[in-house]
Amino acid sequence: MCPSEPVKHPEIVPTGLDYVTSVESTEVVSIQENYDLWIDGAPTKPSTNRYFQTVNPATEEALSRVAEGGRKDVQKAVEAARKAYNGAWGKMQKSERAKYLYRIARMLAERSREFAVLETLDGGKPIKESRDFDLPMSSAHFFYYAGWADKLEYAFPGLGTDSIGVVGQIIPWNFPMLMVAWKVAPALAAGNTVVLKPAETTPLSALAFARLTAEAGLPPGTVNIITGDGRTGAELVEHPDVDKVAFTGSTEVGKQIQHRLAGSGKRLTLELGGKAPHIIFDDAPLDQAIEGIVNGIFFNQGHVCCAGSRLLVQESVFDALMDRLKLRLRSLRVGDPLDKNTDVGAINSPAQLDKITRLVEIGQAEGATMYQPPCELPERGYWFTPTLFTGVSQSHRIASEEIFGPVLSIMTFRTPAEAVEKANNTPYGLSAGVWTTKGSRILWMADRLAAGVVWANTYNKFDPGSPFGGYRESGFGREGGRHGLLPYLEGGW
Ligand code: ADP
Repeated sequence: MCPSEPVKHPEIVPTGLDYVTSVESTEVVSIQENYDLWIDGAPTKPSTNRYFQTVNPATEEALSRVAEGGRKDVQKAVEAARKAYNGAWGKMQKSERAKYLYRIARMLAERSREFAVLETLDGGKPIKESRDFDLPMSSAHFFYYAGWADKLEYAFPGLGTDSIGVVGQIIPWNFPMLMVAWKVAPALAAGNTVVLKPAETTPLSALAFARLTAEAGLPPGTVNIITGDGRTGAELVEHPDVDKVAFTGSTEVGKQIQHRLAGSGKRLTLELGGKAPHIIFDDAPLDQAIEGIVNGIFFNQGHVCCAGSRLLVQESVFDALMDRLKLRLRSLRVGDPLDKNTDVGAINSPAQLDKITRLVEIGQAEGATMYQPPCELPERGYWFTPTLFTGVSQSHRIASEEIFGPVLSIMTFRTPAEAVEKANNTPYGLSAGVWTTKGSRILWMADRLAAGVVWANTYNKFDPGSPFGGYRESGFGREGGRHGLLPYLEGGW
């Protein structure tokens, strides 16, 4: 844990609070030794006969073995989804579909503690985040789209209400359950059926969700879950009877998928990487801005595509802001994700830890100045100390590449125009943050920032009614809100 040691500073008084460990119980979760694929409403053995391990990244302990789906399994899952689309789900009245979505939302809310613990065990994120963010938001997405299911004709007048068919969905490991909700809720609300592949390091919440859909009485085949790595995902993308692909993950894989689907007639939406500018003007309320910055980059260990990973600070407040930020970093608590006090949990996988470590070494080699608070990391598991870089120039790789970890690159600017110029100097275009007390400046900036989402005087705020997505190398299509239905309706994206 990073100690919250007292630091002498002329104007800022540290709290000096002591924390007592408060570890969430895992008794509420029961994890099977093996998980098969979930096809046509039931566990189904993989044709490959292969299973892979999923581990707790905070302890390196094996949690379970999960089926590796191959081509034949993808075929079975797509057939099941097609049958449900042509039958029970596709033919169901829209108001009946809405009831299923409401039921799923309610069950997720009722069982949120169980799902939150599972999410933390499998992914390494702090329990306070899975408990207070991932699960409430997952349930809220189903509630929100349940409301649209029988009102589709009002969503986009003139567009019609026809669904597309069988949807293949591929999700990453940073918000496993929330990504299930973001993908499945609008797809079902529009009347489609789904084959979803969770990420190989975090399959457990999607498999638990599959069982929840059965308890909710969802017709078999409406939601199918196939587990495996990128090869299983590629089989799903290429299956000829998949009408639409929705992918969230790295820009690299997103580009490959777009390449493969070009000319196929399949619909595609991509939610990819980001390198978001987080801009602090000299009139910003600094103490609040510090909380926004910390939330922007250290939320979920920085495993967030919209993380505010490039901090742009107006030169006149740079020193004052840095003093406060360094002090704040000293009070971040890094460690056991199940401890309710923990702010920064475990890095999701050894591969991701390697990537973060490599980019941080490159940052140092390129001449940027690194700051890390004193921090004792647990001996087992995958960990990275919250890190700041100053003296960063725009040509540094840590200023342009997505690190996807708890690492913030800090630069300065003098004028609003310079802030815009620097902010937009990236191939990405997912999100941005602006801190200033002037409303007119917020609007001026938002007009000019190349980002799908701009937060003002806050960061990482989400609502099911609000669309999220990017452009340029951050992808295309929107999730959330009325716009999130478009990719799942004939005539939409
Ligand atoms: P990350 O680098 O963040 O792990 P990836 O883009 O590699 O992101 O992974 C996101 C999801 O895409 C995961 O579910 C992964 O298994 C899947 N995936 C990886 N490669 C491919 C591929 N070539 N085709 C389809 N899905 C893939």
